[in-house]
Amino acid sequence: MAAASGKRVGVIGAGIVGVCAAAYLQRDGHSVFVVDPNTPGEGASFGNAGAFNASSVTPVSAPGIIRKVPGWLRDPLGPLSLRWRYLPSILPYLWRFVRAGSEEKVHAQARALRPLVGATLSALQPLVKDAGAEHLVHQRGHLYVYRSAESLAKDGLAWALRRENGVAVDEFDADELRQLEPTLSREYVRGLLVGENGHTSNPFGLVSALVEQFVRNGGVVIRAAALGFRIDGGRLTAIRTDAGELGADAAVVAAGAWSKPLAATLGDRVPLETERGYHLMIRDPEVMPNIPTADGDGKFVATPMDTGLRFAGTVELAGLEAPPDWRRARILLEQGRRMLPGLAREHAEERLSLWMGHRPATPDSLPVIGPSRATRDVVYAFGHGHVGMTSAPMSGRVVADLVAGRPPAIDISPFAASRF
Ligand SMILES: Cc1cc2nc3c(=O)[nH]c(=O)nc-3n(C[C@H](O)[C@H](O)[C@H](O)COP(=O)(O)OP(=O)(O)OC[C@H]3O[C@@H](n4cnc5c(N)ncnc54)[C@H](O)[C@@H]3O)c2cc1C
Repeated sequence: MAAASGKRVGVIGAGIVGVCAAAYLQRDGHSVFVVDPNTPGEGASFGNAGAFNASSVTPVSAPGIIRKVPGWLRDPLGPLSLRWRYLPSILPYLWRFVRAGSEEKVHAQARALRPLVGATLSALQPLVKDAGAEHLVHQRGHLYVYRSAESLAKDGLAWALRRENGVAVDEFDADELRQLEPTLSREYVRGLLVGENGHTSNPFGLVSALVEQFVRNGGVVIRAAALGFRIDGGRLTAIRTDAGELGADAAVVAAGAWSKPLAATLGDRVPLETERGYHLMIRDPEVMPNIPTADGDGKFVATPMDTGLRFAGTVELAGLEAPPDWRRARILLEQGRRMLPGLAREHAEERLSLWMGHRPATPDSLPVIGPSRATRDVVYAFGHGHVGMTSAPMSGRVVADLVAGRPPAIDISPFAASRF
C-alpha cells in the first residue's frame, strides 16, 4: 500500500485488535507505536477458542433471552453465571442488553456484522504471510453439534441469521457426523459444518508473531498504561500515559474491556462490560477433534491447539476486578469429557491449565469502531465481544482507512459510539 500521510500514530492496547490495526497502519507508511502495560497478547486474545468464524453474525441477545436466563443461572453446568454482588452494577447494562434482542434489531445487527466478520481470513492473510505465521492459521471449518433435533431447533434463529447473510452450511446426521469427526460422543445426532470458517492453533502465538513482525517493520512497543489524551484546538497532540506523554498525530483506542474510561475522557459514554470467559486445556490429550467443534447445548468450543486440546466458553458477569472462579473452568472439563468420551476420566493436574479472560462486550453485540466525539484524530476499535479474533483483521483495515482519511472498506455506521 502506498505511504499515505506518514503520521505518528499510537495504538492503545496490544491485543489482536490493536496489533491488526498497528500492522495495517504501518502498511500505510505511518510511524506507529503500541502502548500496553502488559505483554502483548496477554489480554482476552490469549486464551480464546481461536475461531476465525466468518459466520459469527449471531448477536448474544436474542428474542426470548430473558426467559432462558433463569434456567441458565440455576444450572451449575450452564453457560451463564452472575456474581450476585455485581448485579446492581450491571443492571443498566442488562436492561440495554435485553432491549437489543428484539427480532428486528438482531437481523440488523447480523447484517452489520457480516462484512466485518466475513472478511476475517482474507483480511488476516496478508498480515500472517508478512509475519511468516501461516502455519498458525487453518481453514478446516467450524462444526456445531447437537444432541437432539429439539436443541438444534432452539438455535433456529442463529442458523436463519447465518443463512440469510450468505453463510453456506453442510448438515450431517448421526452416522455422517461419526465419519466426519470420530472422536465425538455418539450422543450427538446432528452436525452443521461451516466450511468458510478458520481457526488459529495458537492465539497467543499468533498475536506474538504479528507483534514481532510489527517491530521488525520499525514499530515500537511501549510498556505503559494510557490515561487520556492531550487535545489542542480539536487536534490530538499526545497520548497521556503513566510513563509521561507520548506525542501523536492520531491514536487508536483498542484496549479491549478496559477501553471505557479512555472513551469517557473524550466525552463518549459507552456501556462496555466484561463478559468473563474461561478455558481449560489438556496437554497431550488422549483424543483431539480435527475441526473446532461447538456444543450447541453447552455453548462451549473444543479447539485443537498446538499446545493441547482447549475447551473454551461460558459467560460470567462479575466485572473486571473480581478474582476468577476456577470452578467455571473445571465445568468445561466435565462437559468436554462428555463431548469426547475418548478422553481419560482423570488427568494429572500438571497436564491441565486454566485461564480466565475478559470479552469486551456491548449490549447489542456490535463493536465500537469510528472516530471519537472530541476529535477525529482518535479512532475507536473496541467492544468486539465474543468475536474479537474474527473481527480484528477487518477492524484493523478500517482503522487504517479512517486514519488515512479514506472511505472505510465496510459500512461502519452501525458501530458508531454515538449509538448509545
Ligand atoms: C473464553 C473465550 C473464548 C473466546 N473465543 C473466541 C473465538 O473463538 N473467536 C473470536 O473471534 N473471539 C473469541 N473470543 C473473544 C476474543 O478473545 C476477544 O474479543 C478479543 O481477544 C478482544 O481483543 P482485544 O484486542 O480487543 O482485547 P484484548 O486482547 O483484551 O487486549 C486489550 C489490551 O489492552 C491493554 N490495555 C488495557 N488497558 C490499557 C491502557 N489503559 N493502556 C494501554 N493498554 C491497555 C491490555 O493489557 C490488553 O493487552 C473469546 C473470548 C473468551 C474470553
